[in-house]
Amino acid sequence: MRTFTYTPSSVRVVFGPGTVARIADEVQRLGAARVLLLSGPAVGRAAQAIRGALGPLLTAEFGGAAMHTPVEVTEEARRVLDDHAVDCLVAAGGGSTTGLAKALAVRTGLPQLVLPTTYAGSEMTALLGETANGVKTTRTLPSILPDTVIYDVDFTLSLPVGLSVCSAVNAVAHAIEALYSPQANPVTDGMALEAIGRIARALPRIAAEPGDMGVRTELLQAAWLAGICLGTVSMGLHHKLCHALGGALGLPHAQTHAVILPQAMAYNAVAVPETMERIVAALGTPLGRAGAPAGIFDLIGQAGGPTSLRELGMSEDDIAPVARQAATTPYPNPREVTAEGAEEVLRRAWQGMRPMSGRFVPGLT
Ligand code: NAD
Repeated sequence: MRTFTYTPSSVRVVFGPGTVARIADEVQRLGAARVLLLSGPAVGRAAQAIRGALGPLLTAEFGGAAMHTPVEVTEEARRVLDDHAVDCLVAAGGGSTTGLAKALAVRTGLPQLVLPTTYAGSEMTALLGETANGVKTTRTLPSILPDTVIYDVDFTLSLPVGLSVCSAVNAVAHAIEALYSPQANPVTDGMALEAIGRIARALPRIAAEPGDMGVRTELLQAAWLAGICLGTVSMGLHHKLCHALGGALGLPHAQTHAVILPQAMAYNAVAVPETMERIVAALGTPLGRAGAPAGIFDLIGQAGGPTSLRELGMSEDDIAPVARQAATTPYPNPREVTAEGAEEVLRRAWQGMRPMSGRFVPGLT
């Protein structure tokens, strides 16, 4: 029988279409009255709706959030914050904009209200990754965790289909690695399986119906549940490889997750066969029939997502150094991660191989 400790998330969540209308009440609930609105490219309509809903609470804006939270950008935003005596951060965007809010919150102690526009799940974690001089480092602190999250489904309607697919797989990855985490517990297990099932049912419909509120609601609820998993238990090989690829080569975050996930699952499958069976059940038929790793590979491919690192622009020469980096420090993973094993995972990911059996042992298959 496994033992575990469990601490529920303290983040207040408001969910539903049109919930941006609640933002002024939620800011005041945080005891704040002077908002800095943070955003990035391509979320102009969301930002416009937030401006209208905030009214006189909106004090300043910074629209320059960037991928991997560069410290220079944070410092630029910090100057705007200081110039306007802001007392609350509001972030509208994907993981990059949420990262900027977290970076400012950890420096100032200000409360954060986040309106996610992707399925990355960062809004549910106390984890911050920042890049300085080309090196990405992460830290976890209570002050990094947002206070309130408004999931307005309307804000996800503009997310392009390709990015929607990859970002939803980013959420699936949080759920799958939570299931075999050493801290796994019945609460995160339930959320993870629910998230996988919702995404497996919704994703095949996204290309044909990107504006369907039912599909978008399923995906955003799943992203929330998967985000809680990410914020509650530790992640394994898959997240480690994606972090290494993003940090060393600047590969795009969600797309990298979509390519790596089936291959990392195939590597781990031999160590956690019963977890793979639970994923198969959550995927349902016909996806699950191929086994969990191939089922996820098919889900991504059929939805039009990327399946190889080659198509993301990675050079084959980069496989070995990234594998060595991913294998240097030990971290929790159901199967020991050797440089040879990580290299084989990356090689298969680079080529875009479909995992055949769900049982992958380097040198044997
Ligand atoms: P992102 O925030 O960089 O967004 C990707 C692109 O999509 C951007 O150009 C953005 O402007 C655009 N976009 C976002 N929402 C849109 C919408 N609704 N309509 C149209 N365009 C939209 O990408 P992401 O995958 O959400 O986040 C990636 C970043 O978040 C990485 O830096 C990653 O490390 C970080 N992250 C952190 C955590 C954590 O817990 N700390 C978790 C997940 C991701």
